[in-house]
Amino acid sequence: MESPANRGGGPRLPYARPWVSEQDIAAVAAVLRGEWLTTGPVVEQFEREFARSADAAQAVVVSSGTAALHAAMHALEIGPGDEVIVPTWTFAATANCVRYVGARPVFADVDAATLLIDPSSVDALVSPRTKAVIAVDFAGQPCDYERLRAVTNRHGLALVADACHSLGAHDRGRNVGVLADLNVFSLHAIKPITTGEGGAVTTADAGLADRMRRFRNHGIGSTPRQREATGDWRYDMAELGYNYRLSDFQCALGLSQLAHLPEWTARRQEIAARYDEAFRWWPGVRPLAKRWRSSHAYHLYVVRCAGSPRDEMLDALRSRGIEANVHYRPVHLHSYYRRELGTAPGDCPVAEAAYNRVLSLPIFAAMADADVERVIASVQDHAYGQPAALAAA
Ligand SMILES: *Cc1c(COP(=O)(O)O)cnc(C)c1O
Repeated sequence: MESPANRGGGPRLPYARPWVSEQDIAAVAAVLRGEWLTTGPVVEQFEREFARSADAAQAVVVSSGTAALHAAMHALEIGPGDEVIVPTWTFAATANCVRYVGARPVFADVDAATLLIDPSSVDALVSPRTKAVIAVDFAGQPCDYERLRAVTNRHGLALVADACHSLGAHDRGRNVGVLADLNVFSLHAIKPITTGEGGAVTTADAGLADRMRRFRNHGIGSTPRQREATGDWRYDMAELGYNYRLSDFQCALGLSQLAHLPEWTARRQEIAARYDEAFRWWPGVRPLAKRWRSSHAYHLYVVRCAGSPRDEMLDALRSRGIEANVHYRPVHLHSYYRRELGTAPGDCPVAEAAYNRVLSLPIFAAMADADVERVIASVQDHAYGQPAALAAA
């Protein structure tokens, strides 16, 4: 069972792994045998169920989380000359969507304990050009939307949640589907639930939802299925859109996956609780802080290496087949943004310092208890062997 690629560690353990059940496969097969492969009845059904499960009035599904962010920027009519504040601690797509509409992302630093966008740093970055803030629920933990809302209300800005990690979580009892004006989800293979590739936006605003539905369909107001139903073959392209549609069979997978969400979220929380317990008195690694009164979806389980250097810990785990990872390299440090917007090291010192310390340990709903224990033992073994870790105690 031991892989020859690693030195005595056991089988490969990725940091994330999708879970597709036999029930999911049967649901997809049923749609493949039917009449509509792309925009058919299951798209609407998935949108209704996704909205219901997120406590939201509306859900719009699109072909990826990145397309969902792009649709959100379009719906809010953000364009050239505008600025949108985004945390630097995120996946590049959060900032890239602002570039897609010709606007400028302005990078905010994060809170050192949680690595979530810092509302006071947001306040300091608002300019007359600012139109919106995109908050990112890093690792699956909702941001402090009450404080963010106070800032965006004071300046008349839209609030967007990049909730690609946090489907299934709550803040003060409120679902992540309702915390911002537009709440964006990814349905990529390793996100909380998947359609292979896919994304969704929830909102209470039917006008914004209509705009996003048009945007995903070239800017055309009606779909072939709607035209078939009314018998009217004419259509109008009222604005420039894209083909960001999600197919019917992908939505069948999404619907079936959605039914697993409560159970899978609970399993991720159980694994995280075991890690928390194991590392509570352990000086070598420090889990990120949890916010009071919010629940955590644990898309990622992130620790800060407090003893030995992060890269040594990462290499030691990988040599045992445990594919720990790093999330994220601060976006403002990527060469594209340095070249295009002149961002530079020093812009966001908290994020830059964290980048050298953090590590994401494996966590996914299908992870076995024995694998969780193997990760814990490997982390602790490594730290034992490191004089720096003992000195830090
Ligand atoms: C995954 C992810 C995205 C993009 O989603 P895709 O479905 O991969 O396009 C955006 N933001 C964050 C924080 C993500 O983790």
